[in-house]
Amino acid sequence: MQLSFMNRTTMLQQLDETSEWDIIIIGGGATGLGTAVDAATRGYKTLLLEQHDFAKGTSSRSTKLVHGGVRYLAQGNIKLVREALKERGLLLKNAPHVTTSLSFVLPCYSWGQKMYYGIGLKIYDLMAGNLGLGKTKIIGSKKAKELLPTINTKKLSGAIIYKDGQFDDARLAINLAQTAVENGATVINYCKVVQLIKENKKVNGVIVTDELSNKEYRLKCKVVINATGIFADEILRMDDAAAKNIVSPSQGIHLVLDKIFFPGSDAMMIPKTDDGRVLFAVPWHNKVVVGTTDTAIENHSLEPQALADEIEFVLHHINKYLDVEVKPTDVKAVFAGLRPLVKKGAANKTALMPRDHTIIVSGSNLVTITGGKWTTYRKMANDVLTNAAFAAGLQKKSCITEALKIHGWVTDTDKNAPLHIYGSDALAIKNLCKQDKTLSELIHPLLPNIKAEIIWAVQNEMAITVEDVLARRTRILFLDAKAAMEAAPVVAELMAKQMHKDNNWMQQQINDFNTLAKQYLLS
Ligand SMILES: Cc1cc2nc3c(=O)[nH]c(=O)nc-3n(C[C@H](O)[C@H](O)[C@H](O)COP(=O)(O)OP(=O)(O)OC[C@H]3O[C@@H](n4cnc5c(N)ncnc54)[C@H](O)[C@@H]3O)c2cc1C
Repeated sequence: MQLSFMNRTTMLQQLDETSEWDIIIIGGGATGLGTAVDAATRGYKTLLLEQHDFAKGTSSRSTKLVHGGVRYLAQGNIKLVREALKERGLLLKNAPHVTTSLSFVLPCYSWGQKMYYGIGLKIYDLMAGNLGLGKTKIIGSKKAKELLPTINTKKLSGAIIYKDGQFDDARLAINLAQTAVENGATVINYCKVVQLIKENKKVNGVIVTDELSNKEYRLKCKVVINATGIFADEILRMDDAAAKNIVSPSQGIHLVLDKIFFPGSDAMMIPKTDDGRVLFAVPWHNKVVVGTTDTAIENHSLEPQALADEIEFVLHHINKYLDVEVKPTDVKAVFAGLRPLVKKGAANKTALMPRDHTIIVSGSNLVTITGGKWTTYRKMANDVLTNAAFAAGLQKKSCITEALKIHGWVTDTDKNAPLHIYGSDALAIKNLCKQDKTLSELIHPLLPNIKAEIIWAVQNEMAITVEDVLARRTRILFLDAKAAMEAAPVVAELMAKQMHKDNNWMQQQINDFNTLAKQYLLS
């Protein structure tokens, strides 16, 4: 069994003991964590700093798809789709415990639609080559109803079934952090970069505040990578106060429903909403995630709020396609995320690799990467490191992540086993239950998570707060916000025991969590 060495105190000691890092990465989402894995496995002395918890930002708020992006295919962006399909295939191989292949049913209402989408999705499946997940098929409306029992069959002429990937985004983020650490990186949550250090107009370090102790560190390095997603502009302005914004955030929301509204194990893809986007209904952890939207947002934050219009939009569309009615009171949780879209024209001459993601090497050698998607994090990491190593004159080293197994990798995953998402760590969690029988009790009667997961998260996954456990180590907040609030006292008590915290800490944690969780409730 492979154990991680994730211990925040040990990590902080490294800050005092290391005189110079090769690479400091700002941001602990998909992009930053993927970059930390790549940098560490190339042999660079690597540090990653995250201001809040790993995946607190956009990376825990995705639609949970590991996909090539059918949408990009319709736009004719073949190169991007082929690249994403390759990454989809690699991720399903390298992290089988947190990913899965899933059938998607696309309802069609005319012969023409069946042909159009059937041919398009056939091409999509062929483009994956030997990393394909299964054949695209055209089915009749009767079969479609069997697969999606609540689908509205009025005027339905049939459907297309195609395969794509699915994952648990925040769990993968934690596993990437563990993989980075096991390969020699230092990764620390709750450490905010507040300033860049410069010498002769070149960035060669950062000033960081430990958000838990308020201690400040001055850290030196050969190159800084800005992987802060929607916050990229703030770091760019630490480098150049006059820097123009390159990111225009776009919000997407999801509603989570009970399986009763969408029984069966297949997902549904609605190919064209009223605003011309795609909308998904995806089974996830025994619930259904429905979304998403695309709303330009002026002000960004770590906790974006779903707008009334967006909620209405998702409910309207899902109700149009189902023969059961979903009411706002049926929604178990609502969550919003912000896409770090790069403004047109921002990727000027300095952008060395303009694709779905953008890389900018500033005159000061600050390297910024933003845009892209979860699915392509590995390729993004490879691209940004090639640029960063060149900019900083680091010794050239090859990327080895194509075949690198992510922490938790196992040969056989029984996706029905309750702890399967932990992969090879599941055994150690079961062992905790053997030592203390009470740890096999459920955290909440409506959800399958057990108390041992709380202990595991504190001991091995750097969970610091009740929110870390309920939102990102387990996904309870995203699945059922009311149940999460009810579970908070149990989580706080067990964490307090583990972390030697007092009653005041417990109460503060419960209050903070409840304030947050209320924003995930619709009614
Ligand atoms: C609604 C929606 C649905 C999506 N669905 C999918 C999908 O199904 N599949 C897919 O492949 N992709 C999807 N994506 C895209 C994907 O989620 C994002 O591309 C990806 O998560 C971005 O990761 P990131 O690391 O760049 O940003 P983030 O996850 O936001 O990470 C940036 C991190 O930087 C930290 N940070 C900021 N400033 C500082 C500082 N000063 N010091 C330290 N840390 C700092 C933040 O706290 C944050 O954690 C979706 C996106 C959205 C919005």
